[in-house]
Amino acid sequence: MRRVALLSILLLATTAGPLWAAEEPASSALPLEYHLILTHPNLHLVTVEITARTVSGDSLEFVMPAWSPGRYAIYDFAKNVQEFEATGAQGQPLAWTNLDKQTWRVDLRQAGGIVKVRYRVFANDLNGSFSQFDATHANLNGASIFMYVAGHKPDPLNLTLDAPKGWQLISGFSDSTSERIFHAPDYDRLVDTPLEACPEIRLTQFQEQGKTIRVAVHSYYDEDTDTTKLLEGLQKIVRAEMALMPAPDFERYTFIFHFAPDISMGDGMEHLNSTQIIMRGNLRSSLDEALETAAHEFFHVWNVKRLRPAELGPFDYTREVYTPSLWLAEGVTTYVSYLSLLRAGLWTREQFLGRLSEEIRVFEEEPGRAQMSAEDSSFHAWFYDRSPQMQETNFANSTVSYYNKGALLGMLLDLEIQSRTQGTKSLLDVLSLLYHKFYEAPQATYYGPGRGYDEPAILAAVNEVSGSDFTAFFDSYVRGTAPLPYGNPLASAGLALRVSVREGAPPSIGITAQPEDRGVRVFAVRQGGAADRAGLGRDDIVIAVDDQPLATVDLNKRLRAYLPGSSVPFTVERHGRQEIIYLTLDPPTPNLYSIQELSGATPQQTAIRNRWLTGRN
Ligand SMILES: [Zn+2]
Ligand SMILES: [Zn+2]
Repeated sequence: MRRVALLSILLLATTAGPLWAAEEPASSALPLEYHLILTHPNLHLVTVEITARTVSGDSLEFVMPAWSPGRYAIYDFAKNVQEFEATGAQGQPLAWTNLDKQTWRVDLRQAGGIVKVRYRVFANDLNGSFSQFDATHANLNGASIFMYVAGHKPDPLNLTLDAPKGWQLISGFSDSTSERIFHAPDYDRLVDTPLEACPEIRLTQFQEQGKTIRVAVHSYYDEDTDTTKLLEGLQKIVRAEMALMPAPDFERYTFIFHFAPDISMGDGMEHLNSTQIIMRGNLRSSLDEALETAAHEFFHVWNVKRLRPAELGPFDYTREVYTPSLWLAEGVTTYVSYLSLLRAGLWTREQFLGRLSEEIRVFEEEPGRAQMSAEDSSFHAWFYDRSPQMQETNFANSTVSYYNKGALLGMLLDLEIQSRTQGTKSLLDVLSLLYHKFYEAPQATYYGPGRGYDEPAILAAVNEVSGSDFTAFFDSYVRGTAPLPYGNPLASAGLALRVSVREGAPPSIGITAQPEDRGVRVFAVRQGGAADRAGLGRDDIVIAVDDQPLATVDLNKRLRAYLPGSSVPFTVERHGRQEIIYLTLDPPTPNLYSIQELSGATPQQTAIRNRWLTGRN
């Protein structure tokens, strides 16, 4: 998945032992038929029937996932399940009970060897996790729609679709848009294959290294008739990324794009042989972001969908699955996607270095960077990965993003490995080694191929590739919270980080705030800053500065009138009462970050830089 903005959000670290996916009880495979019926677009209701034959025993349990791989948040998809019923071989009703919020236990004693359950799911969200069925399309993410049969996730199954007449269907399974019957080797693959049914989908394809890359576009904008630029960009990205890693083991990959005006935010979600990319805005206005998202999601073909943490496949869908490795799975994917956009020629060198500088700025402005490590941020993703917040949190002060820090660790590791190997090895060699070692290993579970890695395997692979010991690096920066060391890795490529104060920057008071009608509401207070020292708190509303109301003048503009060190009266409203609080202003925060070429770089520094930026010696 891809983070939508360079904003981090996040939480308080506690430590707990990892929970491993529960083992499925062994039982013989059941013939399973899934039937998806799309008949009530106006009600946003899809009907699902699951038929299991040769059933025996007293009962069988049908389970709705609590989450969907790729989005580390408990969504409880069972919330939208209704009208559950179960019948036996002769269509006779079977008794059932709910064991918990997401498990239906069906009584098999009168079933006659066959059980069919039927339920409806309300689906009206267009994004990478939920599903949407309306008059324009059905966009379906399997975990939000399909129950699994407890103990039978490994069983092969067939899926039949009843879609409105004239609708075309596209998914990682489909050979043609008229197909309606699909085979899935197991439940995990079923829910790892999103499905779009739509009367106006635009489908094209190209070839790269003998693989077929299909591009499906559903746009709600009438002007989006020309997908040429999107296709050209995708072709460059696919070519660039395939050059970085071993050839993937698919024959066909499917991009499913949506361009929609009425969604709150865009999304991208990785799958084994496909991806969902959903943009807010038309193709022209969101082309760059769509391609950037595509570069990220396509690299997940290798990193996280095939090379994966041991916890992420097979999955325990009933509860949180913890891994310390999302900094590699997501953050390093972000870093490599930037590199591939550069190598693909879609970004200039300045854009690439500019984006890395921006990642550094975001990280350096995170108060939580001294509290939360990359591994802790990964582990606690469940608290903040687009999960609904039921109470106020201090994430703005206590957390870092594993996307952001992971991307920086990717950059630093890449440069450091190149530096220690005189430019002969890079982070991509580490990812390739891990891919060979784990993904191309003998199949360890039904969820093959290969097996998942554990966190120590990352350090071991870095050490093996570099012929050097990176233990101290991992202790300090991956599982530790030491300040990130930009200087030496950048210098090894003849580059340097420059940090300065933007001209005209106002004195700092150390808050983040949101404008409101009457002033600005304090959202977070930085510990030790001017606002903290004066006793300003979250949810205080700053009504005026020096009697000048903030209803009409921007706070920063107002602060520019004062010198650092000035004591300035703020009119603050708290629980409906106003008071005056004096703040002693701090110097402006350095907020201009750039990575620049060192003058007088040695030939070796220049060689590493050129190899890094071009992929060629
Ligand atoms: Zn991602
Ligand atoms: Zn659609």
